[in-house]
Amino acid sequence: MQANVLEWLEGTAARLPDRTALWDETEQMTYREYREGSVKIAGAILDTLGQSKCPIVVYIEKSVKVLVSFMGIAYSGNFYSPIDIDMPSQRVDRILEVLQPKLVITTRALRPEFGKFAFSGEFLIYEDVLAAKEQADMEGQVLEAANRIIDTDLLYVLFTSGSTGIPKGVCITHRSVIDYTDWVTETFQISREDRFGNQAPFYFDNSILDIYSTMKTGAELDIVPKKLFSQPVRLLEWIRERQVDTIFWVPSALMVVSKLKAFRNVDLSHTLKRVLFCGEVMPNKQLNIWRRHLPDVLYANLYGPTEITDACTYYIVDREFQDDESLPIGIPMKNTEIMVLDSEDCLVTEAGTVGELCVRGTSLSTGYYNNPEKTAAAFVQNPLQTAYEEKIYRTGDLVQYNERGELIYLSRKDFQIKHMGHRIELGEIETAASSLPEITMCCCLYDEKKSRIVLFLDKELTREEIGERLRAMIPEYMLPGRVVYMEDMPLNANGKIDRVKLKEYL
Ligand code: AMP
Repeated sequence: MQANVLEWLEGTAARLPDRTALWDETEQMTYREYREGSVKIAGAILDTLGQSKCPIVVYIEKSVKVLVSFMGIAYSGNFYSPIDIDMPSQRVDRILEVLQPKLVITTRALRPEFGKFAFSGEFLIYEDVLAAKEQADMEGQVLEAANRIIDTDLLYVLFTSGSTGIPKGVCITHRSVIDYTDWVTETFQISREDRFGNQAPFYFDNSILDIYSTMKTGAELDIVPKKLFSQPVRLLEWIRERQVDTIFWVPSALMVVSKLKAFRNVDLSHTLKRVLFCGEVMPNKQLNIWRRHLPDVLYANLYGPTEITDACTYYIVDREFQDDESLPIGIPMKNTEIMVLDSEDCLVTEAGTVGELCVRGTSLSTGYYNNPEKTAAAFVQNPLQTAYEEKIYRTGDLVQYNERGELIYLSRKDFQIKHMGHRIELGEIETAASSLPEITMCCCLYDEKKSRIVLFLDKELTREEIGERLRAMIPEYMLPGRVVYMEDMPLNANGKIDRVKLKEYL
């Protein structure tokens, strides 16, 4: 019986100690080293913090080091929360306010940077911990701490955009990750022979599939150098050089390759076995380009929000689609129930009727960290069964069944969007813009056709001026691609900004 994810690392390090586990541009690590490094980090945490079930922040550039830190935190009986090193300081401060961590793991180079944030706790410097000899003596204590973990303990908290400007910390337990990883490895028959090319940042939930299905099976995880996503031919060459056979990317990353016709120059037909994707709509027009060039690869569309541990439905592509057809998001994963509920909370079963996709199962997050209101709004009692407490998660995604009984994603119910694979609440951008003193009214819309964020303002400011000032508050990917000055902001009958009218200006 498995109580925590570390049992996989223990098992794989014992079975395949010399197998390469992790690879980045500067470092590569075997499973033995992965485990040893993690145990050292855990020993240092127990020494410094002496507590379990606490959030520990990892503030390190994307690398092998981040994963060793994650596992170190897990071994110590605590839970990890990564912070993107490119995130604006105001947003980091908001996350720290929610999380109230007592400990941060960082590198020597990044330690001074953290000084600008509102944090007064302790630091562990990654390189120093790994170089220290005495940490190895802590192994007994570390294993004891790991043995005390039960599967309902948290493994991580990942932050997503929040409409009020406060990012929401999604709490996920060991059990949810075990459940999901078992499904992934069985369904896609992942084995020690496989090599993954990881695209997802480690603060984004798609990375869960990469991290844990490799660790469980003894497969290898290679971090794709970020710069290659703007050089598609080099990206494909890298896949061939590294002999990567499995990728799980956001559709935007796959589209970099198909739009720029990179396949003409590199043949991956003897390299790639599986192309999985999740996180946003995958247009068939782009997928068809992949399929034409690599017809023997297994393609699968996974769907799900961070709140249900990465994905809850899947569709293994098994037939031809026209460029303008929708690719299904498919059927529920094992041990997960999908309930499509209409506006009266009645179950939708017939094809063509629209409802909200709601999820029931082990995959559900325990809620948003330190945020009972938002948790209560999204994780609600199952309306179809009121005799005992049972939570479902309301995704806010509108879907319908097709004639084959497969789910089709239609749109969002609210103002959450996906832009280049990033989940964004338009309200977060509006909150940041309206904090500028000269702005009284503003509204943000997404122009789907041009894939750009449009900000409507009641003051005449250029995109550059706005970008410059918002950069301190919101991440680069949230900055508006177009700014429109409205001398008279249109209002609806309730006196609110008329979003429908504004859409005409897109
Ligand atoms: P995140 O929490 O960042 O994974 O974002 C979750 C949201 O991304 C979902 O609620 C959907 O709106 C969208 N999404 C995820 N996967 C898919 C997919 N395969 N097709 C369409 N939209 C998706």
